[in-house]
Amino acid sequence: MKTTFNIDENGYYGEFGGAFVPKELAGRIEELKNSYADIIGSEEFQLEYRQYLQEFVGRPTPLYFARRLSEQYHCKVYLKREDLNHTGAHKINNAIGQVLLARKMGKTRIIAETGAGQHGVAAATVCALMDMPCTVYMGQTDIERQNSNVQRIKMLGATVHPVTSGTGTLNDAVNEALAEWVSSPDQTYYLMGSAVGPHPYPDLVARLQSVISEEIQKQLFQREGRIFPDYLIACIGGGSNASGTFYHYLDDEKVHLVLAEAGGKGIASGENAATLSIGRPGLLHGFKTLVLKDEQGQVKEAYSISAGLDYPGIGPMFANLATKGRATVIPVEDEEALEAAFELSQLEGIIPALESSHAIAVLKKMNFRQEDVVVVTVSGRGDKDLPNYISCLFSDKSF
Ligand SMILES: *Cc1c(COP(=O)(O)O)cnc(C)c1O
Repeated sequence: MKTTFNIDENGYYGEFGGAFVPKELAGRIEELKNSYADIIGSEEFQLEYRQYLQEFVGRPTPLYFARRLSEQYHCKVYLKREDLNHTGAHKINNAIGQVLLARKMGKTRIIAETGAGQHGVAAATVCALMDMPCTVYMGQTDIERQNSNVQRIKMLGATVHPVTSGTGTLNDAVNEALAEWVSSPDQTYYLMGSAVGPHPYPDLVARLQSVISEEIQKQLFQREGRIFPDYLIACIGGGSNASGTFYHYLDDEKVHLVLAEAGGKGIASGENAATLSIGRPGLLHGFKTLVLKDEQGQVKEAYSISAGLDYPGIGPMFANLATKGRATVIPVEDEEALEAAFELSQLEGIIPALESSHAIAVLKKMNFRQEDVVVVTVSGRGDKDLPNYISCLFSDKSF
């Protein structure tokens, strides 16, 4: 059998993944597992999904040749512009697919978790579009930090359910939403926001986001006469934009896969979300992966300036890619991401999300050859991060 970095028939990427859920939840996960591949593989689903992506989201997103960045880093830099999607990030690709899937499974109500609120906004948007009631679980701390997204979710007609347990952040929101799912009626669908959670969610999310690498193949062929780049670079929180960026290249080992994870205030500071660099194997939110832990072996809260990257776990696909050495992992610190955001804004006229700035910052840390084709995914736009960027302009940092 050919070895692959994609999922195996048991729901594992190497030793990571699987489904570790209480028996009350097992039936629901089983139902999803038994239906998702057939439904999303069907022609009927694909036609509808593609039509929404084109007409509602605005796909295909451009693969933009960044001339000034290319000069700066002595290679050919292309940017995959997920920031140009409706709602401003890649998350809508997944939300549309899963709500369509829910509908085809006969579900009538959506619940979702959110950290920074980006997935909450995508979920609420698609639920408005498809006329589904939607409840978004969000930590109390995050509700206070991410108020504009809370307002957007409400304006779109969804309900925000505050989570006060733990530290009131993403980790707690996922726990509460999963618990809520167990006790909710059968017609409730749990819309997972990233390539994490019990099998089959990581595979489901990766397949729905794989439209990104499918487009990169076609667009690169038009520009460069070949479908593969030398490098693919993506930032990683849970791994949804990275899974979409890498999907069709996972087993093509001439393509270097590079992951930018949140180094926060530095690896040594203990304040980071560098799960792939310093995490240890463990169970989180129903799957086996690498997890940030404290000295007592408890799950440790992650930190990053970017609210979309501070997750204490990581998608199982990436725990495997990193452990096997298939992907290179580069921790990017807050300050480096901020600097990269100003660089992209002023060299190319694109203000990136803070998450995406982590991927841009990787360019500075690599040594490319002049002829290398480097594709960086800009996962989202920076409007939501302006307060952070502006406070940096008025501090003594001189980017
Ligand atoms: C949520 C988010 C991320 C991180 O999530 P992944 O699942 O790792 O992609 C990255 N960029 C943006 C813009 C986001 O909103």
